[in-house]
Amino acid sequence: MIHSEMLRHSWPSIFIPEVTRTLPPLTLHTQAGNALVSEVPFTMYVCGITPYDATHLGHAATYLTYDLILRYQTALGIGVSFAENITDIDEPLLERAARDGVDWKELADSQIELFASDMTALHIQAPDSFVPVTRVMSLVERAVTRMQENGFVYSVGADLYFDISTFLPKLPISLEAAMAIFAERGGDPAREGKRHPLDPVLWIAERAGEPGWESSHGKGRPGWHIECAVIALTFLAGEEFLSSADGMTRSLASSSITLQGGGSDLIFPHHFMSGAQAEAITGIPFAQHYVHTALVGLDGEKMSKSRGNLVFVSQMLQDGTDPMVIRWALLSTHYQQERMWVPAEMGRFQREVDLVRLALSREEVLPTDQLINNIVEALSTNLDTPIALKAVLDWAEATVASESGSQHGTGELSRTLDALLGLAL
Ligand code: ZN
Repeated sequence: MIHSEMLRHSWPSIFIPEVTRTLPPLTLHTQAGNALVSEVPFTMYVCGITPYDATHLGHAATYLTYDLILRYQTALGIGVSFAENITDIDEPLLERAARDGVDWKELADSQIELFASDMTALHIQAPDSFVPVTRVMSLVERAVTRMQENGFVYSVGADLYFDISTFLPKLPISLEAAMAIFAERGGDPAREGKRHPLDPVLWIAERAGEPGWESSHGKGRPGWHIECAVIALTFLAGEEFLSSADGMTRSLASSSITLQGGGSDLIFPHHFMSGAQAEAITGIPFAQHYVHTALVGLDGEKMSKSRGNLVFVSQMLQDGTDPMVIRWALLSTHYQQERMWVPAEMGRFQREVDLVRLALSREEVLPTDQLINNIVEALSTNLDTPIALKAVLDWAEATVASESGSQHGTGELSRTLDALLGLAL
């Protein structure tokens, strides 16, 4: 039984106006190629933050993308169940708390609050389930037990490892590349006693000075990937998998959830490993579709913690930037195109938003019917927001320049921009 106290309060839901015209189904560029994503029910899991450096623009661009998917499916009448985790126990969080001399729980709580207020300002819908890993430790414990029963777990010292060998043929990148990336992203390929260098740690025995949770696997904490498998399976696919008496629960479904999302830096190891662990529990593939967003750089450089060049949404809001201009700016580049954030361009984005607002405020405007079709068409084609925004801008420019408008108002256009693009202008 999942109790509501396991869940964090997320943030208030954001009103989405109704779209009255008929929309084509959504096509997305997934890890397996272009795919129609019209499954009903539609369950979406997006990897959440580690709450110590939220919310930089890379986060914002990622969560904005899945917000567009949610909005489009909602307009189509496809109900979306959406879950997101919070990695509120992990090395980077503990390291930051130790560096700053603060309690790791307080640091996490304050950053989660900040993230929620940033998401609210950017009009990004809250997940139905927003789940901190520290609230689901008993589920993690049972999931590890189930994987043990199914033969995927072994010990190295007091730690437990996941045997990845069955899943290696499904590696999304070459074995060589995987070995290199695994070491860079928290993996320990060289640890003695492992069966395969890519086996990820599943349960980390308590280390001196670090928090640990009592469990039948010894006092400790989960490895990185298992939390997402457990939270997605519990909150999106039902929890029966954890309570059935023995053996693998085989479902008739072809996958546990519809869509797994996150930044492209999560393709390997994180999504590969959590998907494999979920499959080791249920016996069926984890996600029907994997959809990833490209990373955001700053002024020609990769934006990263280690470079110390992260741009924070909260700072921009504090400096007086209109959140709808931030949203417009993020939408101006395609979500799967590597992009540079150039602060000097904010003035241009502000002028573009001002122009659209000016046009929308006109008593008489140029016809909007074809424009709305163009917006819908662009979004249905792998969320092509640059095309959609260009169409809106062209219409706004022509409307402002034109002497004569039409009889029609801008109501449907405003509602479409709000409903599908989250732009309340
Ligand atoms: Zn995840």
